[in-house]
Amino acid sequence: MKESLMDVVCCPLDKADLDLDVDERDDDEILAGTLTCTECGETYPIEDGIPNLLPPDMRDEAAA
Ligand SMILES: [Zn+2]
Repeated sequence: MKESLMDVVCCPLDKADLDLDVDERDDDEILAGTLTCTECGETYPIEDGIPNLLPPDMRDEAAA
């Protein structure tokens, strides 16, 4: 995901801002990292450049 997307993305649970923790980047492209909600503290992984902003409940269902 582009780092500029940080202006757009928000927590799906409470629409709060997210903190970005970058593990791997290519210029302004975030390839891997973690988004952490500043409000509820929920974390959302970024894998292969794609942020997984599904709420934890739905994430578990998708995996099952
Ligand atoms: Zn939140």
